[in-house]
Amino acid sequence: MIDVVDRYYSFNKYLKEKYGKRVQKITIDAAFTCPNRDGRLSFGGCVYCDVFGSGSGASLRSESIEEQVKKGAEVARRRYKTDYFIVYFQAFTNTYGPISHLETLYDRAISEASRYGKVVGLAVGTRPDCVPDEVLDLLASYSDDLEVWVELGVQSIHYRTLKLINRQHGVAEIVDSISRVKAKGLKVCVHIIFGLPGETKLDMLETVRVMAALGIDAIKIHPLYVVEGSVLHKWLQAGRYKAISMEDFVDVVVESISVLPPTVVIQRLTGEAPSGMLVAPLWTSNKQMVRRAIEDELVRRNTYQGIGFKVGLSVDELKPFSS
Ligand code: SF4
Repeated sequence: MIDVVDRYYSFNKYLKEKYGKRVQKITIDAAFTCPNRDGRLSFGGCVYCDVFGSGSGASLRSESIEEQVKKGAEVARRRYKTDYFIVYFQAFTNTYGPISHLETLYDRAISEASRYGKVVGLAVGTRPDCVPDEVLDLLASYSDDLEVWVELGVQSIHYRTLKLINRQHGVAEIVDSISRVKAKGLKVCVHIIFGLPGETKLDMLETVRVMAALGIDAIKIHPLYVVEGSVLHKWLQAGRYKAISMEDFVDVVVESISVLPPTVVIQRLTGEAPSGMLVAPLWTSNKQMVRRAIEDELVRRNTYQGIGFKVGLSVDELKPFSS
């Protein structure tokens, strides 16, 4: 749980409470693709998609899973002094493949990481329309030994936005995937984006409120950044899109924190583009600065996670109002 001094419930705090020490994610790019890029749904992808599918690009450099695990474990040991790991399949759509193939990849990464320390979790990033029950059953089969996180790219709860950014799925897939992931006893972490074209602050906050109402376990908040060569880049050049300012981003993140239940783990407060590819907004390249600005603003407003969490009337309010 948070205490007010922290003002929000960070992933590091959650992991430290649970395991008594720092736990580090080892990110894996297992050369998956995405149905929104390979032609199954579209060839174009989401308008902001980068060539690495939000991953490290390791598979493009032909790095094996074993090499990636070794590197990740070394960084964890050297920089963070830990040998407790969560194996995180990050790039593209990590449930998009035959079940036997998925199982082989997950097993390989877990078993390799176990050579360097203790694996406490498996996290798999995917789209809300790519988690059929058979995949969830496979993921659930790991949950006796590990905590299993399904990281869903939700981005927005607004259908018009999803259409505009070419997600190729709707709101139904978001609600359905979250409820089925939870029903299997797996943990759900949603990724959302602030600064999507056409969205107001209220739209963004409503996405957060709906996520809270659906009972998510964790959230990652990203500012929308424009990368070289993306569709969004063309929109920016044509004056069709204006990037969110840091001030507006900090403002909406701080309010989002206040409307999230205190038990929801905040895995990320900001994000950055792959190195050398960022076009706008340039402030996103300094994650420490953005995180500090958010934390300073929480203190300045004397607010904290959960203070504004409310869905509907409370039981005490279920009586006619008379002034
Ligand atoms: S779902 Fe992810 S990998 Fe697929 S097109 Fe969208 S951003 Fe790219």
